[in-house]
Amino acid sequence: MLEVDQLKAFYGQAQALFGVSLQVAAGEMVVLQGLNGAGKSTLLKAVMGLEVRTEGRISFQDSGGLQEVALWQTHRRAQAGIGYVAEDRRLFSGLTVRENLHIAAGRDASALEARVLALFPALKTLLDRPAGQLSGGQQQMLAIGRTLMTRPKVLLLDEPCEGIAPVLVEAIRDALLDLRRGGMALLVVEQNRQLAFAADRLLWLVAGKVRHS
Ligand code: ATP
Repeated sequence: MLEVDQLKAFYGQAQALFGVSLQVAAGEMVVLQGLNGAGKSTLLKAVMGLEVRTEGRISFQDSGGLQEVALWQTHRRAQAGIGYVAEDRRLFSGLTVRENLHIAAGRDASALEARVLALFPALKTLLDRPAGQLSGGQQQMLAIGRTLMTRPKVLLLDEPCEGIAPVLVEAIRDALLDLRRGGMALLVVEQNRQLAFAADRLLWLVAGKVRHS
């Protein structure tokens, strides 16, 4: 589904990734771990085409076959089916939960909303509340839900459980496992053991390189 081959990433002159290769298949969850500064967030941004300049191949399997997306703009990668949830969630805090969901959706918004609410029932009673008034865990559910409204086939998640109450961590984990069962490919940056235990593969990143798999 997603294949990264010898990926390098640069912030200006500073190199942050030094030839990372990985694959995530449909229905698979790969968890990315490593110390602060190892390059985990950079890897997700590079796949999404955000902030960094890259070298190397990023291939994505969609209905049109295997596409090389490394030179595509971010919006085109998103339209093709790569979904990204940033560490800071980037919600519209003054808009309601429902508005946050619908802002990302095209056709079939109601059906997609129903699917998101089935995955995250905790959001059902919060639909009319401004996103800025939600707890961290509720905001994380909303951020994942909003990305799901774009019908991704691959989901890139940056620390979805960081700083979140344990009961909501479980809800988020269960939702991600549900998505995996449904065939989603998941690439998750996460130190949380609950997700690491459920991973199909763990990759350990050290100084911009995969050290263990
Ligand atoms: P953390 O767990 O702290 O989020 P990380 O593994 O996600 O760490 P990255 O944020 O990807 O690490 O950072 C990788 C390297 O790139 C670090 O050396 C960092 O200082 C550098 N870096 C990250 N963002 C920028 C930026 N906007 N400009 C310049 N260098 C950056």
